[in-house]
Amino acid sequence: MTNKRFGSVEAGGTKFILAVADENFDIITESRVKTTSPTETLAECVKFFEDNPVDALGIGSFGPIDIIKSSPTYGSILATPKPGWEGVNMLHTFADALHVPIYFTTDVNSSAYGEFIAGNGQGSSSLVYITVGTGIGAGAIQDGQFIGGASHLEMGHLPAFKRADDDYTGFCPFHHDHCYEGLAAGPTIEGRTGKKGETIPRTDPVFDLISYYVGQLCFSTLVSLSPQKIIIGGSVITETELPAVRKYTSQFNNGYVAEPDWDKFIVATGVENNGSATVGNFALAKQVLEESNK
Ligand code: ZN
Repeated sequence: MTNKRFGSVEAGGTKFILAVADENFDIITESRVKTTSPTETLAECVKFFEDNPVDALGIGSFGPIDIIKSSPTYGSILATPKPGWEGVNMLHTFADALHVPIYFTTDVNSSAYGEFIAGNGQGSSSLVYITVGTGIGAGAIQDGQFIGGASHLEMGHLPAFKRADDDYTGFCPFHHDHCYEGLAAGPTIEGRTGKKGETIPRTDPVFDLISYYVGQLCFSTLVSLSPQKIIIGGSVITETELPAVRKYTSQFNNGYVAEPDWDKFIVATGVENNGSATVGNFALAKQVLEESNK
């Protein structure tokens, strides 16, 4: 397979990040499209790939989405609070316009895959990628395959228990203060302090509280999926918070399962420029192209 070009669509709630790479996954060109109405946004994305043709495309989308190939709504966005996007079939829109093989998955699965092949998951046979940003989501890989069958993982909505000093009422419209997203996603910082997260110094106690919940989620991950590595992305948890996250994970474990080397077990992303999802999409595009040629 020579001189092939692979495309990446990272579909987010505020913007779509588009990129085209050569067969070494080196980026040839990229663009950003603001997320407005589905018609407007997707038309602009399609135009980018008409101007910059690819042999296959990988799409990592915000969710929830239907990623089950046998489902009649495969490729579409499910119940989302984003106006106009519910029921939109993103996969069909690109497939009908571009006529190339497409791999369709969640944004966190794309990031997990990018870390698996080119980031801090290299050399591991299993990993869980957790993003803590506007929401909390996770993608898990075991031996090169995504974990999930009936749908994709929704680990941000696992039940969480509150720290005794936390009286925040929660931000998840479904589970309020009973899930990790409701207690620790980016908007909970403003919900607790009344100030935008990026304006608050990292020494503020709110970040210790967030790290407590992310540590709790890492412990849940450790005892349920037992991955070789947990990789944390998103803007909320940075290198500054990772020591606290590791400390709380260890506290929740309380000596139960054999203590991993925490510094190697819970790590930041390794792909530069927040490019985990993009490189993951290129690799998934290559995979779907190879499968279509069989
Ligand atoms: Zn929830």
